[in-house]
Amino acid sequence: MRNSLPVVNLTEATFECIFGRGCDGICCQNGRPPVYPDEVERIDAHLEKFLPHLRPAARRLLEKKGYLSNRRKFDLPMLRVVDSWCVFFHEGCVLHKVGAAEGDAYRYKPSACALFPLAKNGNDEWYVRQRGYENDKWDLFCLDPKASSIPAAESLQPEIALAERFTREQEAEAARAAS
Ligand code: SF4
Repeated sequence: MRNSLPVVNLTEATFECIFGRGCDGICCQNGRPPVYPDEVERIDAHLEKFLPHLRPAARRLLEKKGYLSNRRKFDLPMLRVVDSWCVFFHEGCVLHKVGAAEGDAYRYKPSACALFPLAKNGNDEWYVRQRGYENDKWDLFCLDPKASSIPAAESLQPEIALAERFTREQEAEAARAAS
C-alpha cells in the first residue's frame, strides 16, 4: 500500500542506498545526529546489548564518557564521534543491526538517521534530500539525483511510512495537549 504522506518533490526525486555495494556508510562518517529525550531513554535502556558490537575504541570512550557529546543541534545533544565515525558505527549502524535482528530496524536509531534522506523544509513540509535541492551541498553518492533511476517513491517507502507514523504521533500528542 502506498503511503499518503505529502512529500513535496517525491514525484521527481530518485534515491538508492548502495551501502555494502560500493558505499561503506559514509553518511555515518562524522555523523552527529541530534537525539531526542525519548530516544536517549530507549538507547540507555538497551545499551548493554549494543556494547559488544561497537568498535573497541568506541566502546572504551562510551563507557568512560557516554555516547552523547557536548555539542547541540536544535537544542538537542548529539552523538559522539570516535576516529571520525559515529560512536555507534561498526561496519554499519549497530543500532540498526540490533533493531533489525529484533524485527524493527528503526527501533533504536535516532529519528534523524532513520528518516534519512527525508527532511523538512522551512515551511514544515517533507521533502527528499537531493544534491542541489533546497541548497543541499552534501556530497553523497545517494543524494545525487543522477546517480540512480530508482524513484524515491519506491525506494523510500519504509522511511515515508516512518515519517507518516511520527507525524500521526505528533498530531495526537498536540491534540492531547490542547484538550
Ligand atoms: S546512529 Fe547509526 S545511522 Fe545514525 S550516524 Fe550513528 S551509526 Fe549512523
